[in-house]
Amino acid sequence: MELEIIKTKTPKQKPQGKLGFGKIFTDHMFVMEYHNGQWGNARIQPYAPFTLDPSTSVFHYGQAVFEGTKAYKNDKGEIRLFRPRNNFERMNESDARICIPPIDVDFVLDALKQLVLLEKDWIPTGEGESLYIRPTVIATETALGVHAAHDYIFFIILSPSGAYYAHGLEPVKLYVEEHYVRAARGGTGHHKVVGNYAASLKAGEKAAGLGYDQVMWLDAKEHKYVEEVGSMNIFFVLDGKVVTPALLGSILPGITRRSVIELLRSRGVEVEEKEVAIADIIEGAKNGKLTEVFGTGTAAVISPVGTIGYGDKDYLVGGGKMGEITRSVYDELTGIQTGKREDPFGWVVRLQ
Ligand SMILES: *Cc1c(COP(=O)(O)O)cnc(C)c1O
Repeated sequence: MELEIIKTKTPKQKPQGKLGFGKIFTDHMFVMEYHNGQWGNARIQPYAPFTLDPSTSVFHYGQAVFEGTKAYKNDKGEIRLFRPRNNFERMNESDARICIPPIDVDFVLDALKQLVLLEKDWIPTGEGESLYIRPTVIATETALGVHAAHDYIFFIILSPSGAYYAHGLEPVKLYVEEHYVRAARGGTGHHKVVGNYAASLKAGEKAAGLGYDQVMWLDAKEHKYVEEVGSMNIFFVLDGKVVTPALLGSILPGITRRSVIELLRSRGVEVEEKEVAIADIIEGAKNGKLTEVFGTGTAAVISPVGTIGYGDKDYLVGGGKMGEITRSVYDELTGIQTGKREDPFGWVVRLQ
């Protein structure tokens, strides 16, 4: 497949000052379309709206998948991506789950590299800043009727984003949700399918209304086992051991989660993937054996947890302060991503 490059004639002003998240987009985007059983018409083109018929299938049945990753630029002008192949491989797994045709991983990876290089002046270089990358695929067949669409658009948009932590790493407060569930085994929770996020909003608003930052999700069947936090995976240091919920079908297999496990194991730290009972976590918080809790995901990288709200009580973790393991995995991962530290794992893809 050819990749056409159509450059904008009207470049936008680059943002000045503090960057938020996901509100500003660069001058160009990558687009390709699926018609008659194949992907084609691949191009990097000026960023622009799509015109879609009201009958377009994604509006009605939500057949869509997304990904999220970041590009980093340091003050030497070096540009790095973090394990981007994993994102496109995971996208194909998500696609397969909801009957979207697979993409050619090598082709879109190359298109992404070209797009990021074209937009390199948009990559912010301040502490904690990055260019957020959002690949998405949507069903675009114009027909009602519940079936897998025959037409799709795949696109990648880029958004310069600010530091996730404005005032350094701050421990967050989690609310354990015992009524609403995010995903059940056999459903789509294991994949980055858009409907999962609509399903999570209600509990998110409830937690925010009660004064918490994020929801801690429990399993859908028994409401006994911890699954994730917000849109992050979760790790616990309990009894001196690092544990994280095993991927049993309703948990998103995070690339940050996998990187943390590989990083800790490379240091000789044991990491157990298993079912984690909320009762054991609360018990650990009460008797002091739960020393650290942190979330992992592309946006925050590592998010320390200081408080867990369960029932009508709040339980402090590690005195409400960030722990040593949390700090060290944050420093190491962000160091590798930005090029401040060596990358012995070969995770980073240097573009320039
Ligand atoms: C994206 C996501 C994660 C984190 O995945 P990363 O690859 O580490 O960014 C975790 N949970 C959910 C529900 C997600 O959507």
